[in-house]
Formats: sequence, C-alpha cells, structure tokens
Amino acid sequence: MSDKPHGFDTRQIHAGTMPDPATGARQVPIYQTTAYQFRDADHAAALFNLQEVGYIYSRLTNPTVGALQARVAELEGGAGAVCCSSGHAAQIMSLFPLMMPGCNIVASTRLYGGTLTQFTQTFKRFGWSATLVDFDDLDAVRDAIDGNTRAIFCETIANPGGYITDLPEIAKIADNAGIPLIVDNTTATPYLCNPIEHGATLVVHSLTKYMTGNGTVTGGAVVDSGKFDWSASDKFPSLSQPEPAYHGLNFHEVFGPAAFTFHGIAIGLRDLGMTMNPQGAHYTLMGIETLSLRMQKHVANAQKVAEWLEVDPRIAEVTYPGLKSSPYHDRIAKVVPKGPGALFTIRLKGGYEACTKTVSEMKLFSHVANLGDARSLVIHPASTTHRQLSEAEQIKAGAAPDILRLSIGIEDADDIIADLNQALV
Ligand SMILES: *Cc1c(COP(=O)(O)O)cnc(C)c1O
Repeated sequence: MSDKPHGFDTRQIHAGTMPDPATGARQVPIYQTTAYQFRDADHAAALFNLQEVGYIYSRLTNPTVGALQARVAELEGGAGAVCCSSGHAAQIMSLFPLMMPGCNIVASTRLYGGTLTQFTQTFKRFGWSATLVDFDDLDAVRDAIDGNTRAIFCETIANPGGYITDLPEIAKIADNAGIPLIVDNTTATPYLCNPIEHGATLVVHSLTKYMTGNGTVTGGAVVDSGKFDWSASDKFPSLSQPEPAYHGLNFHEVFGPAAFTFHGIAIGLRDLGMTMNPQGAHYTLMGIETLSLRMQKHVANAQKVAEWLEVDPRIAEVTYPGLKSSPYHDRIAKVVPKGPGALFTIRLKGGYEACTKTVSEMKLFSHVANLGDARSLVIHPASTTHRQLSEAEQIKAGAAPDILRLSIGIEDADDIIADLNQALV
C-alpha cells in the first residue's frame, strides 16, 4: 500500500470500515444491541471515566453508527463526527456545547424552512436566539455579531432557490470574531464541497437526503474540523472549563482536537438522547458507497433540465446556479467546483393555479416534502411547507405562490424533461 491519501471514490467505500474482527463479515454488520458486556469491573469503571474508549450503551456509542461517524468525518476532512437521529437533531447537537441562555447565533436568511422555524421559534425555549441576515451583505453579517454571539450558521447551497454561500468570506468574519462557523452541507454533500477547506469549524448534515440517497433513513451528523481553539476565550466554558456534568473534566485540555466530538457523545448524546439507530446507520453507509456517482448524475441531470426549462415559454424563471443567468454562477468555481447540486425553483407564468395543476399532472416526479432522493421530487411550497405564511412572507422566503421546487433525481434526463413537458401548463 502506498502512503498517498485515497481519492474520494475509494474513501466513500472504505473509510471507517474494515472486515468485522469477530466474524470476518466484509460488510459492516448491524450491531443491533443496546448494551455491551464489560470485561470486568475495572474495565467498566475506566469506560465510565472516559479513561478508555469503548462501548457501554447504544445511546452513546454503537459500532455500526461508529463506522458511519468515521466515514462521514473522513469524507468531510474532519477530526471526528457524531451521528444523530436527524438533521435537525444535528443542528441542536452542534450548538448545544456552545450556547447558554442569553446567547445568540448569526444565521443566513436563506435556510431550509424547518431550520428557520427551529432557530426563530424553538430556540426561544432554550433562551437562545438567532439573528437572521442576508449573507451577501458581509457588513451586515459583521454588524450582527455581538458579545453573546457563539456561532455563525449558513448552508453551502441554500435550499430552495439555488443560492451559493461565499464560504471563504463568511469564514474570515467568523475567524476575526473568534467564533465558529457552522455550515449545513446537506444539499452539497462532501463530494461537491468540503466546507472545512473553506474555513468552517463544524459541518452539519441531514443524512436523510443525498448521503443516504434513496429516502429510507432519517439521520444527521455533526463533523468537527478539530481546528478551533475553544480555550482562546471564555466564550465556550463547556469545552474549555471543568464540566460539572462530567466530574469536572476539561474536554479541550484532555481531548484536544477531539474535544467537540467527545463532548457530543459524552454529554450531547448521553443527556439529549438524539441517537441514530444502527439499522439507519447501515443504510446510510450503503448509500454513501455510491455518493460520488449519484452526485455526478444529479448535477448533470439538473443542468440539462434547467437549460431545457429556461427556454420554455411557460416558465418565467429558473434559479439553477449552473445557468449563466444565475447571480450565483460565478461562485461555482470557488465553492462547489464539481457542480452546484440538483435543487432549484422554477416560476410559472400561470401562477398559483398553474403550479398546483402541474404538480397534479406529474407522473414521474413524486409530490413529497423531501429532497435529495434518487427519484425526482417536486413540491409547491406555497400550498404546503410555506402555507402558514402570508403572501409577503412567502415571497421573502423564496416560496412565492408561482414557484415550484424541483429536486432532480438520477433517472434518464430525457424522461424527467418529458414528464415536465406533459405536466406544465
Ligand atoms: C432536510 C434538511 C434538514 C433537516 O434534516 P432532517 O433529517 O429532516 O431533520 C436540514 N437542513 C437541510 C438543508 C435539509 O435539507
């Protein structure tokens, strides 16, 4: 074996896994067990003191979930990862070690709808808040940071309108403020972008989407770059000071670059319990084996479909960044050089009525509240996910009444186009 680091296609199959030491099983077994037998009383005590790393109870660690954690960490270029029960759980897990009541985050206005609700509504119950700003206005991002800000949060490619965040510029702002940048990389995946290379501290994923790739699993992950100095200020006492919830252990001092990951397992999973199940982890491991192949096809199909739609007389606008008409086209080379994903919106000249009629006429596209599936998906946000908002709010959220969101699958591009052609009005 040479020392040359393996390429992405090799790592997506091999990283984090090996033949099962007990049986030689070549594929990662589903360790469907709640608990693990201790060798003896000393072994048990060492595990509980975090003096030895091992398995105690599957709310904290499980070998199948552990293999997925190692694979996701390696694909993102991180020091470690914690998997959890959903993408939304991952967001809470990423913030939990950083936040206290009274703390805030500065987040992009362009985020997954469910994330906006979590940040603006549910955060209040924890005494947290989110200041939402336009991430194209770098001064506004800088100005929104105050003494209680503990993180900056954005998405690489923001759902739904084909927006690409200028990650290196945002990372500089976080760096100057001495706070971590958290990037939701769900819609790009580590194949199209490694936010850590652009300066992100933490990367969160909904594994539910492209990573698993077939709409079978709900899961999430938090990847830590291992590069942030938690002890540089007094802002992050959970990581840099004796942790009362773990016999006064100082995570940063003891675990160094693995501090955030250990905290996520020993405190986050232990006390919040947002654990991923081993069967889900197994499905996601299977999905990731073909991630690069699927993403290449997703991107190629999205480009073809977007180009076809852009010149169709029934369409008023297509927001795919792969089109030269997109204001974010120039950011592709900098942030997502292998392609800008497969998610975009279209605006129909026929308005709300045309949107609902088109959705009902589609045969190949599935009308579902999901994205990142092998099959093509469509949703009309104004009559579904964004239904509770006023029309003005819908427009602001990129979910105006005349907009459809498409998640382009990996079927034959000609069949996807034919379905759109017969359904559009
Ligand atoms: C789906 C999604 C989430 C939430 O993930 P769940 O697994 O559904 O909890 C967060 N961010 C983005 C960008 C998503 O697409």
